[in-house]
Amino acid sequence: MQDRFAPSDPARGLDVTRNPLVARLVRNRHFQFFLILPNQIVFWAVIFIGILGTTVPGLNFGAAITWYIWFCLVFVMMVVVGRAWCSMCPFGGFGEWVQRHSFWNRSERSVGLGLKFPEPLARIGFLIPVVSFLLLTWLEEFFNIAGPGNPAATSFMVLGIVGSALAFFLVFERRTFCRYICPLTTLIGTVGSMGTVAGFRTRDRDICLTCETKDCMRGGEHGYGCPWYTWPGSADSNLYCGLCSECYKACPHDNVGLYLQKPLTSVVAPNRRRIDVAWGIALLWGLVLYQQVNALSLFGSLDTRLNNAIAFPHYPDPVDYLGIIALLALATAGAAWIVAKLLARRDLDLTTPGTFLERGSRFRTFFAPIAYGLVPVIGADYFARQLPKFFKHSTRLVPAVQHVFGASGTQSKLYTLRLLTNPRIVVVQVSVIALGTLAALWTTWRITNRELVPVSRNGVAIRVVTLGLVLVCGLAAGVLYVLMHAAS
Ligand code: SF4
Ligand code: SF4
Ligand code: SF4
Repeated sequence: MQDRFAPSDPARGLDVTRNPLVARLVRNRHFQFFLILPNQIVFWAVIFIGILGTTVPGLNFGAAITWYIWFCLVFVMMVVVGRAWCSMCPFGGFGEWVQRHSFWNRSERSVGLGLKFPEPLARIGFLIPVVSFLLLTWLEEFFNIAGPGNPAATSFMVLGIVGSALAFFLVFERRTFCRYICPLTTLIGTVGSMGTVAGFRTRDRDICLTCETKDCMRGGEHGYGCPWYTWPGSADSNLYCGLCSECYKACPHDNVGLYLQKPLTSVVAPNRRRIDVAWGIALLWGLVLYQQVNALSLFGSLDTRLNNAIAFPHYPDPVDYLGIIALLALATAGAAWIVAKLLARRDLDLTTPGTFLERGSRFRTFFAPIAYGLVPVIGADYFARQLPKFFKHSTRLVPAVQHVFGASGTQSKLYTLRLLTNPRIVVVQVSVIALGTLAALWTTWRITNRELVPVSRNGVAIRVVTLGLVLVCGLAAGVLYVLMHAAS
């Protein structure tokens, strides 16, 4: 019985629900509703104003708030907190309200078919959402949605996400969409592992061992069973805790708390590293580097040539989009494969049973820890990508709001104000990458010492190689930002 807990028991951080005020707030069934409500209002405003408002992107509230502010804010939330956005997300929130046909009360009946997600698909974990993220990004680039182009395109994109989320909430049980499909879940889950919120976890695991009801999973009188299929007793990172607080409300033994942790803990702490997460990280890395390369003039002629060759109308050519992303992801995996080939101990025990994703191999033993270690530099890269739009145009939100109420907006000084010049934006971007690289050096150092040195023939060589890989990644991202000259 004890084995069920043994592999994953990272040091406990600070349980903020020990504070009576926080405890009262989190136990209140209105808590999550009031977190979601403001975003729900803003997102429906985005949808309606995007379609019905001005076609000038910088003056349209929907396009302005989404692309100049929202993306940046979500990244800050991911890096600082973790899945904070998921606790207030209007996409999942709307679907859940309909599925439960209740805004906050604990209802026994749910609307929809309540099917279980097919097990073979569930086993491939992060690979479906990462594909949906790649598809969404391609559509966004093809229709120039984030440019931003026509504001109505932003509305249709948001409607598409809300609509597909609702369909999944009506067909499948709980938050199947959030765990297995949502285009944002891989990014939030991986980059969010840098955050300081460990999520809701059990306080005393011995109590869980004798608990017969498992209300945190099955649902109890005061709370739903975990919508994310996470058992707070076994979570070893914040990867799949959507911070909905249902387990806290449901547990009849008051045995769940909301824990804070030191930054980067959920990158380093997991004992069971998942290969689907590792591939998700590699593909996300490929995507952000593709976007950086695409901002260089050199790339334009390659894309045009490929479009001419296959008679494709315009950027982004699907061949180079998928090809470059796959090549960059494979380069990360290839580096891990070479490291495993050269440095793995000959007598490694690789007999772990399971699916092809779980089975042990030299490659898996090295690839998963190496990929996890890169999370901070990849997170920094995604954040740095959002900065030009924020520094060049975020002040347009004020005239965009004024425009909704009939003012012309373009006469406002804020419409043309830039918070930073291009050279300064580049300095900030390179500084963000430098910080991310330092953080990745630290996580990789910790992970390598704990997981790779014991399985390597040469401890010094494995440290040099893994840290060197981080430096190469950080350097590549930093140099690309210099060459991009603050291109959005
Ligand atoms: S996983 Fe996606 S839909 Fe679900 S709460 Fe998070 S961002 Fe929203
Ligand atoms: S309901 Fe409470 S005590 Fe029981 S398993 Fe869940 S967290 Fe543990
Ligand atoms: S029920 Fe608990 S473990 Fe599950 S997502 Fe909500 S807060 Fe996290």
